Amino acid sequence: MCGIIGYIGFQRAQPILLEGLKRLEYRGYDSAGVATIEDGRLVIVKSAGRISNLEACLEQRPLLQSTIGIAHTRWATHGCPNDINAHPHSDASGRIALVHNGIIENYATLRQYLEGKGITFRSETDTEVLAQLIGHLYAPGQLESAVRQALIQVQGTYGIAVLCLDEPDKIVVARRGSPLIIGVGADEYIVASDASAIVQHTSQVIYLSDGEIACLDRQGLRTTTLDARQVSKAVQSLELTLEQIELGGYQHYMQKEIFEQPTALRNCMRGRLDMHESRVVLGGITKLDRELARARRIILMGCGTAWHAALIGEYLLEDFARIPAEVEYASEFRYRNPVIEFGTALVAISQSGETADTLAALREGKERGATVLGVVNAVGSTIARETDAGVYLHVGPEIGVASTKAFTGQVAVLAMVAIWLGRKRHLSPTAAEILIRELARIPERIEQVLTSAEHIREVTEKYCDRENWLYLGRGYNYPVALEGALKLKEISYIHAEGMPAAEMKHGPIALISKGTPAVFIATRGAQYGKVISNIEEVRSRGGCIIAVATEGDAAVAKLADHVFYVPDTPDPLQPLVTVVPLQLMAYYAALARGCNVDKPRNLAKSVTVE
Ligand code: GLU
Repeated sequence: MCGIIGYIGFQRAQPILLEGLKRLEYRGYDSAGVATIEDGRLVIVKSAGRISNLEACLEQRPLLQSTIGIAHTRWATHGCPNDINAHPHSDASGRIALVHNGIIENYATLRQYLEGKGITFRSETDTEVLAQLIGHLYAPGQLESAVRQALIQVQGTYGIAVLCLDEPDKIVVARRGSPLIIGVGADEYIVASDASAIVQHTSQVIYLSDGEIACLDRQGLRTTTLDARQVSKAVQSLELTLEQIELGGYQHYMQKEIFEQPTALRNCMRGRLDMHESRVVLGGITKLDRELARARRIILMGCGTAWHAALIGEYLLEDFARIPAEVEYASEFRYRNPVIEFGTALVAISQSGETADTLAALREGKERGATVLGVVNAVGSTIARETDAGVYLHVGPEIGVASTKAFTGQVAVLAMVAIWLGRKRHLSPTAAEILIRELARIPERIEQVLTSAEHIREVTEKYCDRENWLYLGRGYNYPVALEGALKLKEISYIHAEGMPAAEMKHGPIALISKGTPAVFIATRGAQYGKVISNIEEVRSRGGCIIAVATEGDAAVAKLADHVFYVPDTPDPLQPLVTVVPLQLMAYYAALARGCNVDKPRNLAKSVTVE
């Protein structure tokens, strides 16, 4: 959450910063701001709301000359989204400006200390405390040292970029717990929270690690640790391309990402499914194959959509590999006292690879001796770097705040891991071969589901004024019900509950009244008959049944008010196809209600704060 960007080079900074902010806007859109040094003055322009508001302010007061600057797009944690709380924040002297992603946890103590020194605060943010502290510690020509001293006193997480009027050719950046990447161009640097703001300038990057500070000036770049030890950093090549982060004819990123799932999954599985040998090839975890084959327990961790993928992963791992598996909310795991026995492997699932809770949980697991694996989309992200091994999703950048293709990518990766591990334990070559063939067919099955998009839109529009929805499924489709409900909540602000269909009669069935939409995943498979009975129960109480069913199933059509058909697929792989109509329903409901699909209220992508 929050996007930060900084530029130092030979070009005008303002357009580069604004363009970068637009690419980072999915990380937060409560306010935006920019700071540059213009005619010997530190100029800060900021505004609540979208980047377009900042642009309007900059039309009145363009920053014309400067070739250095920092900028920010905010997802507020401390202090409401208004002009004053917008970043950049400055110190009391107005000579230092700072942008920040993260949370300064001991901000209250530091603020009290600084107020005791006579410093007056302007905003309610935790960030201003850091700006003021750096200003308080600043001695002429010593910006880097002031930043270092300040950060030593800070508890919490940060990715920061700092500008100082007295050292006008320098940006100091640092990170702990929040991402920061430095793009290295010819005589220029562009530093940003993620690669999407860098890729149009350069594909050469340096990933800053936690606890490191980099000083960027016109002579070059110097990286040190918080305790002032020099670190030499390797320049790496980005895999991302500009086309991948453009809308390419679609109206919204979410729409683009739903529709590109067939291609995304082909990319995800490319080179990994070996039909002839009935095996899965996963280069990223091969080095741990003996250890994983002997694992006694697997703990899958994630947040939100990744947690739903983890639930499916649990079933897959137990089913194919017969390893006891369990799922944890990363945010809970890190704060309780989990038992990590010898032989425990921990799988951290995160699209961005920067999710603060998941990162902290994996560090906790590592500390307690678990082998840690990552299932991550963003190449080179912190989770990818801190895990012992892992499998990338390779589904391309996901920009829509509501995750879609990352979910199917995560499920596909977990299925491949389960088959890979299964072959080392209990899965026969014949069973593996069938699963591998079925996995390879998933992209075309999703293509088929996508051809029903118009029908799904028409049905959804009929119900989009209802304020309470239920999503019900069993077995492998229970997590899909949770995911369908989450999608609807996230982008259309309709209250929805997902649950195992059988649980309904233990309480939630009381919610059903005439016309309550109940979305059942009622595909053919192990629990088909049971789900049909659950449909009858809801129908007899006046609920409106929308069913996701297997192609050609006339029986469900008789019971349901509406049916979305999906191709016949074996139970364990069904989530990959059954989730697609639910993603489309959420998308069309949000459109019909006039909601901003890619920038839903109160949310942002890549949750880098706790
Ligand atoms: N804590 C800072 C603020 O509220 C930054 C928030 C973030 O990184 O999401 O302004």
